[in-house]
Amino acid sequence: MPKPDNDLLQRFLFEQSDIRGEIVSLQDSYQAVLANHKHPASYLTTTVNTLLGEFLSAAALLSATLKFDGIITLQAKPKIPGPLELIMADCTRHNNLRAVARLHEHNPADERQCNFRELLEGGFLVITIDPAKGERYQSVIAIEHDSLSDCLNTYFQQSEQLPTRIWLAADGDRASGLLLQALPIQLQSLEQRSELWQHVSLLADTLKADEQLALGHDAQLHRLFHQEALQLFEPTALQFSCSCSRTRTANMLVSLGREEVDAILEEQTSIDISCEFCHYVYRFSPAQAAQLFINTPPTLH
Ligand SMILES: [Zn+2]
Repeated sequence: MPKPDNDLLQRFLFEQSDIRGEIVSLQDSYQAVLANHKHPASYLTTTVNTLLGEFLSAAALLSATLKFDGIITLQAKPKIPGPLELIMADCTRHNNLRAVARLHEHNPADERQCNFRELLEGGFLVITIDPAKGERYQSVIAIEHDSLSDCLNTYFQQSEQLPTRIWLAADGDRASGLLLQALPIQLQSLEQRSELWQHVSLLADTLKADEQLALGHDAQLHRLFHQEALQLFEPTALQFSCSCSRTRTANMLVSLGREEVDAILEEQTSIDISCEFCHYVYRFSPAQAAQLFINTPPTLH
């Protein structure tokens, strides 16, 4: 069997049509994210690790639809904090991926396996597009479906953007995803595009999660679309990389306010802030912390 692709994002086009696709496979970047997850072993570890893979794949696929430099973030929270408080992934236009899930202490009596909807009951999935230049844009989606892909597909269907569909798979070892998107009419009539859209969407619906995880991009696309003329572009590499920095951490401390920072320093000899995504520790001595507020007016109460 041909080997699956690793940490690659690849675009394809149905020739002479206004439909394109993206396909992604993650392994090392996904494993780097899971290795950074130091939450205690939980009955939900398998479920959450699978969800993290799906979030990473979705962020990578959606980043490929951005027309500008920026970052796309998918974040989901339940209405009432349960065992899973938050899950999020982001991907930059330069293919830097990261993700995190916050798990709560739980009562062993409550242990039961839950799917995406049950874990995030009544909550929202927020997609944020943060361009390097310009205003950030957010879409808020109610979590009413059992899987992240169903949730995203319903949103694509209801929003007025270009017809888009997504198929996601992850198993704690590998993650993969497929995205189809109809482009503005250029080469086909609207009717021709709709007909082809129906056809290729139905074919993609036959793709099984284990095929997504076991097959390379060529093999997956051949399996689905061997009767279509397809152009597959060169893949681009994806990697785990965290966008945290000392400056951002310092800004966060400034936003906490001087009083709060002073209160922490009364109890500790320094302020240590660990990045939730990569666990890098940013340390601020009392002098460094004081320096942050030199040009900042004190917080008023
Ligand atoms: Zn970091």
